[in-house]
Amino acid sequence: MQTIDGDRGTPISRSASARANLLAWVVLCSTVLICALIPRAAQAGEGTLSTTTIRVPLTVHVAVEDGNAVVDDARIEACVREANAALARYGVSVWVRAVVELRDTTTIETPDQRLALAKVARRDGSVHVFFVDRVELATARNGDQRVSGMHWRYHGLSPRVRAREYVAVAHNAPRTTLAHEIGHTFGLGHDEDVDNLMCSCKRGESPSFSARQGRRLRSGARRFLDRARPRAQPRRVERVRFSRAERIELVRQVRAPSRAERAPRTSR
Ligand SMILES: [Zn+2]
Repeated sequence: MQTIDGDRGTPISRSASARANLLAWVVLCSTVLICALIPRAAQAGEGTLSTTTIRVPLTVHVAVEDGNAVVDDARIEACVREANAALARYGVSVWVRAVVELRDTTTIETPDQRLALAKVARRDGSVHVFFVDRVELATARNGDQRVSGMHWRYHGLSPRVRAREYVAVAHNAPRTTLAHEIGHTFGLGHDEDVDNLMCSCKRGESPSFSARQGRRLRSGARRFLDRARPRAQPRRVERVRFSRAERIELVRQVRAPSRAERAPRTSR
């Protein structure tokens, strides 16, 4: 945080009253600046200051089976609380922006089902969390393998789902599963320590993130917010790359053809 370095353009009188006035102005300006900066830093949620908590929204999708949600609000809250208990000490938190009903999907088993969810997980700045009945990863080698959760991210080229990602959690997964999958979302890999939240194993009683993981989580949360930002805004125009002459040339290349140019060149 910076403070104003006085009013350099104003001649300074040596009289005591002038000095008092100047001091009053410096104090006033500093106070105004500090008041202006503090709320902005708090709202930014992206680490403007090193002590600012990075707040990442969640959009929670809940599968419905036979008219009943596979998890209730209390269960969702418990998972979120568990995640925040582990994230808080590293200046990261998650909060539920919306809870919506997930239609037509209760289990995630096949590549097609995983891809279908990517279309639901729009890029809107939030981590999409799907609570479903069952998550299974079918592989040729292992066959169907039930898991408690997964983090999925698309690396293909289809423009409809490019760079989409989400988290899926089985309805009966341990409460720590959401924190584990959020860890993946923010860039963490697996750890073998049973007391570590990133252990892909039966975790201990109160697993946590290590300090090293905490630092990665913080930068990973920032990177997530950046890549998950909606892309509705117009792209920034690159203005320094071309000289004026080259830009004119480019305009010529994309100019709409005249009527004469549009006329068919071959006759029937
Ligand atoms: Zn994992």
